[in-house]
Amino acid sequence: MSLSRTETRSSIEPRTMLVLENFIGGKFVPCRSHIDSYDPSTGEVYCKVPDSGEEAVEDAVAAAKEAFPGWAAQSPEQRAQILNKLADLIEAHLEEFAQAESKDQDQRLQPDGPRGLPQLHHALPSWSGLISPWNLPLYLLTWKIAPAIAAGNTVVAKPSEMTSVTAWMMCKMMQQAGVPPGVVNVVFGTGPRAGDVLVGHPDVPLISFTGSTATARRITERSAPYCKKLSLELGGKNPAVIFADADLDRCIETTVRSSFSNQGEICLCTSRIYVERSVYPVFLDKFVAAARKWKTGVPSDATNNNGALISKDHLEKVRGFVTLAKSEGATVHCGEGVDPLDLPERYANGYFMGATVITGVPRGSRVMQEEIFGPVTCVSPFDGEDEAVAEANGVRYGLAATVWSRDVAKVHRVAARLQAGLVWTNCWLVRDLMLPFGGMKMSGVGREGGKDSYHFFTEIKTITIKH
Ligand code: NAD
Repeated sequence: MSLSRTETRSSIEPRTMLVLENFIGGKFVPCRSHIDSYDPSTGEVYCKVPDSGEEAVEDAVAAAKEAFPGWAAQSPEQRAQILNKLADLIEAHLEEFAQAESKDQDQRLQPDGPRGLPQLHHALPSWSGLISPWNLPLYLLTWKIAPAIAAGNTVVAKPSEMTSVTAWMMCKMMQQAGVPPGVVNVVFGTGPRAGDVLVGHPDVPLISFTGSTATARRITERSAPYCKKLSLELGGKNPAVIFADADLDRCIETTVRSSFSNQGEICLCTSRIYVERSVYPVFLDKFVAAARKWKTGVPSDATNNNGALISKDHLEKVRGFVTLAKSEGATVHCGEGVDPLDLPERYANGYFMGATVITGVPRGSRVMQEEIFGPVTCVSPFDGEDEAVAEANGVRYGLAATVWSRDVAKVHRVAARLQAGLVWTNCWLVRDLMLPFGGMKMSGVGREGGKDSYHFFTEIKTITIKH
C-alpha cells in the first residue's frame, strides 16, 4: 500500500508530511484546516490531521443514514464476508500498520493488528457514533467498528486527533474490501469540535466512547436531552494486591509489565501496588531492580521496552504527579529524576520518561487517587486481607485489578470483594476478546466484547401477534 504524501521542506532537511483526509460516503474528502500531529519520539510535526467541524460531521451522519437500510438488510453472512475480507487485507499489510502505529503513538514495534483482527473475523442495528482515544488506536477503533457493522449498524467514527494515521489507512482497506459507501465514515478532528457535534447530533442515537472519565461526563451531558444509548469505557487506577505467599519472582516480572507496558498508557496498567508487610522490603528491592531494567528509548530498537509518551502536555502532566508525590514526602526509587535516560541527540526533544517507582505517598494524595496514565507506580504495605481490599477499593475508579497468592480460596475471596470490572489472579492481561470488558464506578458504564457488544449494538424488540 502506498500512503499519499505531500512534500514539504523544513529548515534542516527535506522530509515528507502526511496529510490525512476524512472518509465520508466511501470517498476521501479533504478538509480546509488541519491539526498538527507530532512524532512523540522527536517532538516534530509529521502529519496533518483534518480539523473537522460541523459540516463534515453533518455529511458523515447523512451518509451513514443513507447507507443504513441497505446494510441492515444484508444477511449476517454477507456482512461477515466483507468483514473477513477487511481483516485479511489488514493482515496482509500488518507491517505497515505496525510501523505507522509505532510512529504515531511511539509504541514498541509490535502491531495491535493481531489483536484487532479477531474482532473483524468473529463479530456477530441504527447509526452509531464511535469515539476512541489515542492509546492502542487501531485496536480500540476496530473493537468498536467490527461489532457495530457486523450487527448491521452504520457508523461515524472519530478517532483521537493525536493518533489518526492507522484509522485513515484502514479507510483505504474499507474501499478495497467492498464495504459499501456510508457504512463506515471516519471524521478526524478534536473532541471539542468534531466530537462534540457528533455526540450532540440528534440523529445519532447510540454512542460508544472510550476515553477519559472527564470527557465521558461531557458526553453524558450532551447526549442526555436525546436519551442516547451509551457505552462508556473509561480510566482506571488499577491496584495489584500481593500476598506474602505469592510466587514473588513471577509476580514481580508480571507487575513490572503491568505497570509500565506501553509507557503505562494502557487503561489496564497497574498504578497502585499493595504488598503484605512481611514481604514488602524484599518485594520493593526486587521490584525496583526489575523496573530499572525496563528500558526506555526509541521504539524501533527492539531491545527497548518503552517509547515516548504521547505528547509534551501529557509528559508534563505525568511528571507533575512525581513532583507532587515528592512534595508530599514520598520517595522516588527509580526513573524520573533518579535515572537519567541515555537517548541519541536526534531524540532530545522526544517525550521520554523512565519507569518510575514511588513509595510513601499519602493515601488521600491525588497521586494515589487520580489516573496518571504514564510509567509511574506507587508501592505501599498492608496488613491482612481486609486492609488490602479496603485500600484497593479506596478510589473512585473500578476498572481492573490483580491478586497474587498461592492460596486459591483467598484469591477467590479477594477477587470477589474487589470493585473492578476485570480481576486477574496470578497473571495480567490474559484476555479472550469475546469475554465481557468494562469497568464499574467511574471507570465506565456497560460492557463491551462478544455478546455484550452485540447486545449494545442491537435493540431487542418484542412483537406480539394476535392470530
Ligand atoms: P480523552 O477523553 O481526552 O479523549 C478520548 C476521545 O474523546 C478523543 O477522540 C477525543 O478527541 C474525544 N473527545 C474529547 N472531548 C470530547 C468532547 N467534548 N466530545 C466528544 N468527544 C470528545 O481521552 P484520551 O486522553 O484520548 O485517552 C486516554 C484515556 O482513555 C485514559 O483515561 C484511559 O484510561 C482511557 N482509556 C480507557 C479504555 C477502556 O477500555 N476503559 C481504553 C483505552 C483508554
